[in-house]
Amino acid sequence: AAKSRGRGQFCLYEASMDSEVKNRQLLASELREALEHNQGLMLWYQPIICTHSEKIVGLEALVRWQHPQQGMISPATFIPLAEETGLIIPLGEWILKQAFTMAKRWPQLIVAVNVSPLQLRSRNFIEQLMQLVANAGIAPQQIELEITEGILIDDEHEANALVCSLRERGFHLALDDFGTGYSSLSYLSRFPVNTIKIDRAFIQPLGLVDNATAIVRAVVDLGHAMHLSITAEGVETREQYQALVAAGCDRLQGYLFHRAQPPEEINALLAAEIVDDDSNPPA
Ligand code: C2E
Ligand code: MG
Ligand code: MG
Ligand code: MG
Repeated sequence: AAKSRGRGQFCLYEASMDSEVKNRQLLASELREALEHNQGLMLWYQPIICTHSEKIVGLEALVRWQHPQQGMISPATFIPLAEETGLIIPLGEWILKQAFTMAKRWPQLIVAVNVSPLQLRSRNFIEQLMQLVANAGIAPQQIELEITEGILIDDEHEANALVCSLRERGFHLALDDFGTGYSSLSYLSRFPVNTIKIDRAFIQPLGLVDNATAIVRAVVDLGHAMHLSITAEGVETREQYQALVAAGCDRLQGYLFHRAQPPEEINALLAAEIVDDDSNPPA
């Protein structure tokens, strides 16, 4: 009995793996169609706040997929799928094109775009980027490319050359999700990024765990010593906000301020900020 049950379980496991694979294949083909017909994919924007002025200084573009049956699917699900299937190349191009078009409409703001390691290392990436910037009529200086340590694992020399040539063309570079990966601190000295984005994992425990503040302070001080600016991701509470101000963090991003939202809502936010200025002139 034990033997047949064991065998039965094995079959069941295999069957469920099989349907899992099929589900992902289906989802991948649906993503390809969404991209081909420009249906259901959207780019939303989350404001980035200057700690000192408390004003919006930038927007991070975050992709959204409204699936016809399943509703909103998280990029945490479909970006890895796009990476596995190679769809990240056309999807990434679509994202850059959208974001650059909006950047033209928001000339006073930095627009941050997440770039997948595969996309970054694809042939002609820099040429494509320069073409898209030219087509949109913007300067590379208005764009911050968010990269992760993922690009650093394979060929460090190649990654370093890429980052350097992007900097030479005038793009800002941010190291996203800092502190979560393999992060050896020595990476920082070899990858000339402009900004470190401290991952939410380090922001969440602020005010709850003693050493949380010490870690964030150390990252801010280290970054500043290297002339980098520091953004905190995932700021949700007043306590976190106050700790980050005290630590000298330059920019803040999180639900305490704003969630990612469609461009029209961002326009309304920006308009409200201007009205707010008029009614509260500085003393
Ligand atoms: P990320 O680049 O680190 O983006 C930050 C994520 O944290 C976003 O999730 C954002 O909505 C969320 N977030 C922001 N503030 C808060 C907060 O206060 N609390 C909490 N709990 N979460 C907050 P989202 O949009 O689901 O994106 C997840 C990840 O998917 C991104 O992490 C990024 O790695 C990837 N992704 C999103 N859009 C793109 C894209 O256009 N291209 C690429 N290559 N990856 C993308
Ligand atoms: Mg990001
Ligand atoms: Mg991040
Ligand atoms: Mg993250």
